[in-house]
Amino acid sequence: MDIVAPGWLVVQVKQKFGGLRLYVELPEDLETSSRALAHSLVGDAERESCSVCDVCGELGTLTQVRENYWQTRCGSHVLSDDIDATLRFARRDREGRGGTQEF
Ligand SMILES: [Zn+2]
Repeated sequence: MDIVAPGWLVVQVKQKFGGLRLYVELPEDLETSSRALAHSLVGDAERESCSVCDVCGELGTLTQVRENYWQTRCGSHVLSDDIDATLRFARRDREGRGGTQEF
């Protein structure tokens, strides 16, 4: 990112719908093509976060654990008090469909 947009700043980092949301400020004089590439890199990181456990960094699955609440977790860190999420994770894992959630 420093090569594409020298001087870029992170203005906000948060989790939303189980994935990373990264808001950046790009230099005003950045060329249009570099600006587009920088936004693409941020998008790549946000998409990749939906397949990485937010506890340990291992491969995880984006799962809805209750209404309006999503998380990306590996099998070891899926919420154990949410039996529905545990069952959904196990079913996805058994079907070999780990990775990102289809939208
Ligand atoms: Zn984990």
